[in-house]
Amino acid sequence: MSGILDGPGPFAGPTKVLVDTEQEIRDAVDNYAELGYQGVKIYSSIQPELVPAIIKRAHQKGLRVGGHVPAFMTARQFIEAGANEMQHINFVFLNFFFDEVKDTRTPARFTTVAERAAKLDFNSSEVRAFVQLLKDKQVVVDPTVTIFYSMFTDRPGVIGSAYAPIASRLPPQIRRELLAGGLPIPKGSEQQYRDSADAMLRMVKLLHDSGITLVAGTDNLPGFTLHRELEMYVQAGIPAPEVLRIATLNAAKVLKRDADLGSITPGKLADMILVEGDPARHIGDIRNTELVIKDGKLYEVPKLYQTIGVLPR
Ligand SMILES: [Zn+2]
Repeated sequence: MSGILDGPGPFAGPTKVLVDTEQEIRDAVDNYAELGYQGVKIYSSIQPELVPAIIKRAHQKGLRVGGHVPAFMTARQFIEAGANEMQHINFVFLNFFFDEVKDTRTPARFTTVAERAAKLDFNSSEVRAFVQLLKDKQVVVDPTVTIFYSMFTDRPGVIGSAYAPIASRLPPQIRRELLAGGLPIPKGSEQQYRDSADAMLRMVKLLHDSGITLVAGTDNLPGFTLHRELEMYVQAGIPAPEVLRIATLNAAKVLKRDADLGSITPGKLADMILVEGDPARHIGDIRNTELVIKDGKLYEVPKLYQTIGVLPR
């Protein structure tokens, strides 16, 4: 669990935990620690000058710090202040577009990336130095690339590739939402947006190849988005067995739970899923989960789907 923290203002995020002073930071972070959270998630309206105080208090309480790079701050500054984790691949790109967009509370944090990501030179000294910084500081990146890929490529009235395989099984109100389309694309920019979507995948691959720890977040429709996120990593060029490790052992290690969780090994807890097929060869097989074993209980997946109005496969 990661407790969200944002600052007040017209773009405040989906939380009532808004902090504007060091005292409010201490109270909020201490409360999250007491409630058993593992981290705090900084959101876009936090004042940059408050970030060091948040990180200091969170670390004192044994919590990790990740999230959005707040507006008027670069990703480099966020990391140099001590952040452990970056959420959302767009913030990696925005580090290089600070000349154009400093206020990332607005949709500019998506549109600027859609317009410029494809043109970013991955071999530039700026990109190379930033990736090295991520590595040196052992920063974990949680790309949530599915949601941005959909934003840049989905069209209104068409169910995009992220949910096409399962849309017919979902309840009508969810299916209807999937028809909304992505960002409004300026006329003539369709190819540029698609190229930028692919640039995000290239960045995921570059980070992985550079030894940056990735974790597989979703930021969208629970469950099914995780399947798609893993498919996207394979599409990016990461071998499927490594993608499965990202979704399991990497996450356990990041949370320091790998003594008990994250791999099927004698002595660890038997929290696992049984899949029909071989996702180490065909990552899409991860969608064919038959059984979930969690905390000593067995769950039959078709029954779980039934309880939330999703048709079995
Ligand atoms: Zn977020």
